[in-house]
Amino acid sequence: MEKKNITVAGAGLVGSLLSIYLAKKGHDVTIYERRPDMRKADISAGKSINLALSDRGWKALAGAGIGDEIKEVAIPMHKRVMHAVDGTLTDQAYGNEGQAIYSVSRGGLNALLMDLAEKHGVKVNFDKRCTSINMDEAIASFKDYNTGEKETVNSDLILGADGAFSAVRNTMQRTDRFNYSQEYIKHGYKELNIPPNADGTHKLERNALHIWPRGEFMLIALPNMDGSFTCTLFFPFEGKDSFSTIKTEEDVLAFFNKTFPDAVPLMPTLVEDYFGNPTSSLVIIRCFPWAHQDKVCLVGDASHAIVPFYGQGMNSGFEDCTIFGEMMDKYGDDWTTLLDEFQKERKPNTDAIADLAMRNFVEMRDLTADPTFLLQKKIEKRFSNKYPDKWLPLYSMVTFSHIPYAEAHAEGKRQDKIMEEVMAMPNIADKWDSQEVEDKMLSLL
Ligand SMILES: Cc1cc2nc3c(=O)[nH]c(=O)nc-3n(C[C@H](O)[C@H](O)[C@H](O)COP(=O)(O)OP(=O)(O)OC[C@H]3O[C@@H](n4cnc5c(N)ncnc54)[C@H](O)[C@@H]3O)c2cc1C
Repeated sequence: MEKKNITVAGAGLVGSLLSIYLAKKGHDVTIYERRPDMRKADISAGKSINLALSDRGWKALAGAGIGDEIKEVAIPMHKRVMHAVDGTLTDQAYGNEGQAIYSVSRGGLNALLMDLAEKHGVKVNFDKRCTSINMDEAIASFKDYNTGEKETVNSDLILGADGAFSAVRNTMQRTDRFNYSQEYIKHGYKELNIPPNADGTHKLERNALHIWPRGEFMLIALPNMDGSFTCTLFFPFEGKDSFSTIKTEEDVLAFFNKTFPDAVPLMPTLVEDYFGNPTSSLVIIRCFPWAHQDKVCLVGDASHAIVPFYGQGMNSGFEDCTIFGEMMDKYGDDWTTLLDEFQKERKPNTDAIADLAMRNFVEMRDLTADPTFLLQKKIEKRFSNKYPDKWLPLYSMVTFSHIPYAEAHAEGKRQDKIMEEVMAMPNIADKWDSQEVEDKMLSLL
């Protein structure tokens, strides 16, 4: 295989992982990252931000040989625990026995990926912001944060792994027939914290993702290795209960005491965190094409940023790496075909997960508090356990399988129609586990 000189913009989760895949194939890879080296600079001091990693992500990490190392610092979350306003807790398993999604530290994972990339010979340059590219010549321009100096870099191929506000994509957006859309949803988010107990244990059940579903908004909490939980409040920017109406310390306490009463005693720094941490927005980005000849290609959030409600943004970006690896095996030195097949394979699937992620927001913030919804999930699970080859719940297809997202989406729609009829059966709550319900589902399949 011909050795390529490859420039990667962005040493985030996807850029770092894809670089390992490229270096393992023998290519000469250099990453340019806008920020300082997170492993040296204490840029996330005192703050642990975590992510849910699931099967698609694990597969891609295993492909780079780093799965076992990450598993040691990942906390399995086997179920959702829903917190009602009156303090009642309801459990809902994510999958079958032994299945879980995993809480991992974003910074820790990113640092390990960078270490491994360097071990494989990838050069990582920090404080270098990509400003633009020349698409036909594969020349990228960078500006150094410290010196202000500009430089241009010639290579055979530029990969834009520079996130939702990609500079590489920004250049592509100004070319003919490039489709692009950016949509901010009306909710934003704010990170809050539940510290550990004095003995380092977790204040809430450790192996679970906690949700306080409240209709138009929700609070979630994911466990960290140090005994703390990182909480995220997903909240509208405007309206009666919204970021715009909570202005004072009293507002915060009154709102949280009314809405999340069991969480307040666990959050001693609630007010400081609320005002000290940023309010961030959530954006959905779609574009096409991702590739230009054999010279440029976008990956990860740069090409498909989605809302975080299915926990699939990073997982889908990591799946990009798996598929990119498969395309390298398949197309060898024919990079024009490789990049074209990559984008054609990924685009429908990343569009599907973008839609599914928005749909899951409604499920998390609203439906998880709805007994009818929980009953429906119970019926599906029972049926799926009995007929695993006939029915895999949508959540499992997305989270615990490698079925392409677009296929999972289509199958999920078919299941919705069936479940609509099943849930309309008289007295369904009393006979949910009966032969009659089972027969009905078999007849509708
Ligand atoms: C609140 C929230 C929760 C989330 N939770 C989950 C979850 O539980 N599970 C999950 O799978 N996903 C989750 N995601 C999504 C996930 O964070 C992203 O999908 C993932 O980070 C994308 O990785 P990336 O490498 O493509 O982009 P990024 O992680 O954004 O990395 C891009 C990198 O490029 C650098 N960069 C940017 N511009 C330039 C430039 N001009 N020049 C050079 N470098 C540049 C950046 O500094 C950064 O290092 C969540 C997202 C949010 C907002």
